[in-house]
Amino acid sequence: MTSFASLPLSDAFLANLETLGYSTMTPIQAESLPPVLEGRDLIAQAQTGSGKTAAFGIGLLYTINPAWFATQALVMCPTRELADQVANELRRLGRSIANLKVLVLTGGSPMRPQIASLEHGAHVVVGTPGRIRDHLSRQTLDLSSIRTLVLDEADRMTDMGFYDDIAAIVKECPKRRQTLLFSATYPDDIRHATEAFLADPVEVVIEAQHTSLTIEQRFYEIGFDSRDETVARLLRHFKPASAIIFCNTKVHCRELVDTLRAQGFSALALYGELEQRERDEILVLFANRSCQILVATDVAARGLDITDLEAVINADVSKDAEVHVHRIGRTGRAGGSGLSLTLCAPNEKKWVKLIEEYQNTPAEWHELSELDEDDPGHGDPAPMLTLCISGGKKDKLRAGDVLGALTGDAKLAKEHVGKINVTEFQTYVAIDRRMAYEAFDRLSAASNLAGDFGSFKGRNFKMRFIDV
Ligand code: AMP
Repeated sequence: MTSFASLPLSDAFLANLETLGYSTMTPIQAESLPPVLEGRDLIAQAQTGSGKTAAFGIGLLYTINPAWFATQALVMCPTRELADQVANELRRLGRSIANLKVLVLTGGSPMRPQIASLEHGAHVVVGTPGRIRDHLSRQTLDLSSIRTLVLDEADRMTDMGFYDDIAAIVKECPKRRQTLLFSATYPDDIRHATEAFLADPVEVVIEAQHTSLTIEQRFYEIGFDSRDETVARLLRHFKPASAIIFCNTKVHCRELVDTLRAQGFSALALYGELEQRERDEILVLFANRSCQILVATDVAARGLDITDLEAVINADVSKDAEVHVHRIGRTGRAGGSGLSLTLCAPNEKKWVKLIEEYQNTPAEWHELSELDEDDPGHGDPAPMLTLCISGGKKDKLRAGDVLGALTGDAKLAKEHVGKINVTEFQTYVAIDRRMAYEAFDRLSAASNLAGDFGSFKGRNFKMRFIDV
């Protein structure tokens, strides 16, 4: 029953799912896909990491007619990051559909290229409510052919004040359509607010507890003054390739990052008031393995769509059990397992009690003495180092050009070049740290300018390392 083959999907579509490594459905997929493929409306309560994107993604791709160049599906998301992530997942899921066009419409990017792409036609539009409404009011987006409408993370969208935009957008969609609504929490006001958008929906609830079954949770009792040192010790013992460390305050975040960096760890802090550009850069460094550790407050992590981490460390116990479950849900892939480590000083025991009650399982306490003998001050640097090139899409620079220069002028083997992110004005490329400096010297020697320039596609661009 949990095999994708039990669904009425084409052989090509199923074969593609297999290449993506999706063999069995996650609980949210198993419960929602059968009614969704029958055309029913759906309200689903599910967290990030549950496989919810594929749950609505497969649903909407099922009804797309690629030969018809009209916008047939619209997905609304709260943030730009999430919209990008959803669009990427849809493209991966839709690889077996020839010429499928998925377009992202979010704020913070110029309008004109978006309008040009819309003129070329997009089968699926993924975007944030503000920007979608902008396009509607300029009449550059036509929603009269929508068959599937998805509201992803509806609770966050309403929290962020998007309700009126959403209502205005829904009005522009045909009455005969399928509507799928996903929300991590489901308070009454969302239920009331959004009821009008759905017709006789099937309701699916995947308990937060489900995810915690696959997450190994360990609690450690610590003294009042050994918190940051113990975080470093846990990192040295478990050596997670990627981890988020949660702190209850911004002040603690900053302090912990300083401690970790002083010990040689590649750690960056994420807190509320960073500029979008700084935030984007940190996320690039984290995703391309130039930074292994993010130290974050709950507020800052809220808009973050990072899951699939090897470990989550709670440097402070959350006072809210639901927040705790949300934090640890970022480790462990759908179906895989993850590790969550929580440090608890005597005054925090009461919060652990709440977590035990909420999860209906006793906390599993571990002794610090179980950890390897410690060697303070020795953190590992990240495996990759990011080279930032001051040219991007605006300069018509493409990932292939950068890869060409790195394997050509810089004489790197392909496997020593990691992720390449081309943004509007800049390009970030991760390079194996062990050969990064040599590669840089070869690049700048090959350009005929003095200083830190490299030649890409026959043009010189300034470049620098971002060391974490
Ligand atoms: P989501 O909850 O949509 O953010 O998905 C969490 C992660 O699980 C993503 O990295 C998906 O690619 C992955 N995923 C989704 N469905 C499956 C599945 N059936 N089997 C394996 N991985 C999956």
